[in-house]
Amino acid sequence: MEALASYKAQLREIGKLDSAISLLHWDQRTGLPRKGQDARAEVIGALSKRQFEMATSDELGATLEALEARDDLSCEEAASVRVVGREYRRHKAVPPDFYERFAVASSRSEAAWERARAASDFAAFKGHLEEMVDFARRFAAYYGYEESPYDALIEEYEPGMTSRRLAAIVAPLREKLVPFIERLTEAGAAPDAQFLQSPFPMQAQRALSLRALRAIGYDFEAGRLDTTVHPFTITAGPGDVRVTTRFLEDDPLSGLFSSLHEGGHALYDQGIPDRLTWTGLDQGASFGIHESQSRMWENLVGRSRAFWTYFAPHFAEAYPAARGVSSEALYRAANRVTPSFIRVEADEVTYNLHIMLRFELEQGLISGETSVGDLPDLWRDAMERYLGVVPEDDAQGVLQDVHWSAGMFGYFPSYMLGNLYGAQLFAAIREALPDLDEQFARGDFSELLSWLREHVHRVGRAEDPGMLIERVTGKPLDPEYFLDYITGKFSDVYGL
Ligand code: ZN
Ligand code: ZN
Repeated sequence: MEALASYKAQLREIGKLDSAISLLHWDQRTGLPRKGQDARAEVIGALSKRQFEMATSDELGATLEALEARDDLSCEEAASVRVVGREYRRHKAVPPDFYERFAVASSRSEAAWERARAASDFAAFKGHLEEMVDFARRFAAYYGYEESPYDALIEEYEPGMTSRRLAAIVAPLREKLVPFIERLTEAGAAPDAQFLQSPFPMQAQRALSLRALRAIGYDFEAGRLDTTVHPFTITAGPGDVRVTTRFLEDDPLSGLFSSLHEGGHALYDQGIPDRLTWTGLDQGASFGIHESQSRMWENLVGRSRAFWTYFAPHFAEAYPAARGVSSEALYRAANRVTPSFIRVEADEVTYNLHIMLRFELEQGLISGETSVGDLPDLWRDAMERYLGVVPEDDAQGVLQDVHWSAGMFGYFPSYMLGNLYGAQLFAAIREALPDLDEQFARGDFSELLSWLREHVHRVGRAEDPGMLIERVTGKPLDPEYFLDYITGKFSDVYGL
C-alpha cells in the first residue's frame, strides 16, 4: 500500500481500539458492578497492550519515516506526522519490559497509596513513592532532555514547556498572589453563604446541571451526563464525548461547577472537526490548553456576575433555600476564598499555590535534590508560607493526590497553566466581543463558543500550546493576565 494510505489506515485501527478502551474505562468508572471489576481490568489490560504494540510497531515507524521525507503532504497531514512521530519516538525509546515493570509497580503503588491515605500513614507509602521517582528518572533518561530530566516528563503533558520557563512563571505569580490572599482574608469582607446550608436533593441538582450544560452549548446528541466519584470527561469516539459529575447533598454549588468544568472539556472535544478523526490530531493541544477550556467555563463564565444574573432564577427554582436571594448575593457566595488543605476544593485565587508547591517538590524529587522522606515536612512548611494553613495529617497533606502514586510527574503544572492560558485567552475574547457580559446575562453563550471553536478547537492538536497561545492572543504566555483578572475580580467581591 502507498505510504500515506497505509499510515492513515494504521491510525484508524489504533483509533478504534482507543475508542473501545475509552468506553470500557467510562463504564468502569460509572456503572460497572463490583463483581465485574477484576475481569474488566484484564480486558482493558489486554486491549491496551495491543494498542501499545500497534502504536509502537516497526510498520508504523517505517511509514512515518517514509512520510517525513516527503514534501507533498497537506498541512494537516504534515502536522499529523509530526505529532504522531514525536509520540512514536518517545514510546519507542522505552524498552517494553521496562514499561511492563512500571505498569505493574505503578498499579501496586496506587493501591498502597489508597491504603496509606486512608490511614494517613506516609511511612507505609514511602517505599513505593521512592520506586516511582526512580522510574520517572529512568523514563526521563530514555526520553532524553537538554537541561533537566523534569523537562522530559512535562513534555508528555505540555509539549515545549520546560522547568526553567515554569520557574520564571511561578516566581512572579507567587510573589503577588501570597500577599493578595493575605489582604483578602484579613481586610476583605467575606461573602455570606449562610443560605447555602440547607440540603439540595440530587435529582434537582442533576436537572440544574443539565440546564447549565444545555445553556453553554454542550451537545447531548453527542454526549451524556453521568455521576461518578472523581468527575472526568471522556471521548469514547467521534460524536460521543461524555461528561461525569459528582453531586454533594450538603454543597449546592459543587456539582454544578464540576458539571461546568467537565462541560468545558467536552465542548473542546465536541468542537474538534470531523476531518481530524483518527489522525492523531483529534484531541486538545495539551493538558494545559484543555484545562484552560474547562476552567474558562467553570470560573470565568460560571463564576461571573453576568452568569448569575441569568442563572439566579433557575437556581432558586431548583433550590428553594435560595429564593429571595439576589443574583449579586449568589455571585458573591460562589466566589468565597478560603485557604484550605485540599487542592481539588481550592478556589480560583488559592488554587495555583497548591500547584506551585507540587511543582517545586516534584522538580526537586526528579532532580535528586529532594528526598522522598523529607516530603511531609517540606509540604507543611510550604503550606504555611503560601497559604498560612498547615494540615493536621498527611492524608490532608502530601498524600491527598493520586498522581505521584501512579508515577505521573510533570502533570500538575498543567492545572496552573490552564488557569493562565484561560485568563489570557479570555482577555483576547473580551476585546473581540465587547458585549459578552450582556450576552451571558441573557443566557446566551453562543458567541463565546463560536469564538473558541474558530480560534482554539478547530486546530485540535495540530499546534503546540506555545504556538497556539501566541497565534490567538498575539503574545507568549504571560501570567499578568491571570493576576489582573484575579486581583480585579476579588478586590471587587471582597470590597478592598
Ligand atoms: Zn506519550
Ligand atoms: Zn479539568
